[in-house]
Amino acid sequence: MMTKHYAAAYAMLFIICLLSGLFPIVLSGRFDALPIVVVLVVAVVVPPLLIWIARRMGYPIGEPIHCSKCGTEMPMFRKPSSIRQGLAGGYNCRNCGAVLDARGNEIKAGAAP
Ligand SMILES: [Zn+2]
Repeated sequence: MMTKHYAAAYAMLFIICLLSGLFPIVLSGRFDALPIVVVLVVAVVVPPLLIWIARRMGYPIGEPIHCSKCGTEMPMFRKPSSIRQGLAGGYNCRNCGAVLDARGNEIKAGAAP
């Protein structure tokens, strides 16, 4: 199902793939059609694979996250409140203030994530 969350995740990965693929081409200064087409195809094909793999690993990329405590939907773009949260993913619920992991489950103070 194509949701705005999926579209946002796809667009982000698409741009990352595109830039990382085009960067060496720009650096080399040679703009052959074939490498550019390959980069475009990879940038279109890879994001769904990455999203699929991430979901298999338990990361709900491209899906809406809801607070496990109050059910509020988390914003698509979050500002981590700590380095740990930035690395592990996670949210602070803006409704009830609960600290959530990347899947929206509440992290109890002192408990291991
Ligand atoms: Zn909440």
